[in-house]
Amino acid sequence: MKEQTVLAHAKVNLTLDILRRRPDGYHDLEMVMQSISLHDAVTVRTETGSGEIVVHAGREDLPSGPENIAWKAADAFFEAAGIVNDGVEITIEKHIPAAAGMAGGSADGAAVLRALREFLCPEMPDVELERIGARVGSDVPFCVHGGTALAEGRGERLTDLAPMPACSMVICKPDFGLSTPQLFGRVRVDDIARRPDHGAMKAALAAGDLSGVADALCNVFCEVLAEKERHEILHIRQVMLENGALNAVMTGSGPTVFGLFDKETAAQTAADALRREYAQVFLAEPVNQR
Ligand code: ATP
Repeated sequence: MKEQTVLAHAKVNLTLDILRRRPDGYHDLEMVMQSISLHDAVTVRTETGSGEIVVHAGREDLPSGPENIAWKAADAFFEAAGIVNDGVEITIEKHIPAAAGMAGGSADGAAVLRALREFLCPEMPDVELERIGARVGSDVPFCVHGGTALAEGRGERLTDLAPMPACSMVICKPDFGLSTPQLFGRVRVDDIARRPDHGAMKAALAAGDLSGVADALCNVFCEVLAEKERHEILHIRQVMLENGALNAVMTGSGPTVFGLFDKETAAQTAADALRREYAQVFLAEPVNQR
């Protein structure tokens, strides 16, 4: 039996733009994604002898069978690599909030792919692993890739960008959920009023200019929030700004809000203020290498 524990890093969207609806029902996106230090820990054991994929999801509200993204990733790996599975056991220690716009499930899937590659096909290149990831979910290729990247298409076309400058982040997940398909359904691509300026974001990253990165944060989903959702997200953003955030925005299809801080003490104060109202508040930082 072989065993490995892989850190599955969450992501935030520094930008998110929706370019068009495609004939296949998906949308073409353009987004700058950033890996962050908040992570799950995924332990993968191979050669268990059962011939099955077994997932211990770590939480009752998460699926443990074929519905778990980690299960799907293992299944896709064996199929793509043409290897017979003689038994895999996956144990997830969950820290990333689920259904939060932070790619928690995708990160677990990517961790499984990396562990299985190392055990079974160490020569397989990253692009091949990302291709397998794309079959599992739109955010899995980025989670395999990591760092700072422009993601296009459904999220599977990745281009490395200059690493995000060091900073402190506060992450706050409000208690309500947002449905990704419902949010996509509300978007009218021709009516989007404010889109991300990707030229400005890339220039700020290349210059290592944290204020420039903060100024260029933008997520078009913020325009289609219902009044109650918008109110709460703006409130979280406001608490972060009042406590010294350079800027704050919702990540992915939400509802999590993250703020960027150039001082760790300010981030700590903002996190303390938010913890008086919210149960899921985290301090994090960008992670630029896998
Ligand atoms: P994204 O940012 O990629 O849109 P998300 O953070 O909004 O993702 P996830 O945390 O990946 O969402 O979870 C989405 C759904 O997937 C949840 O409803 C959850 O039940 C299911 N799921 C399956 N496997 C996992 C997993 N390993 N961790 C978390 N959620 C999982």
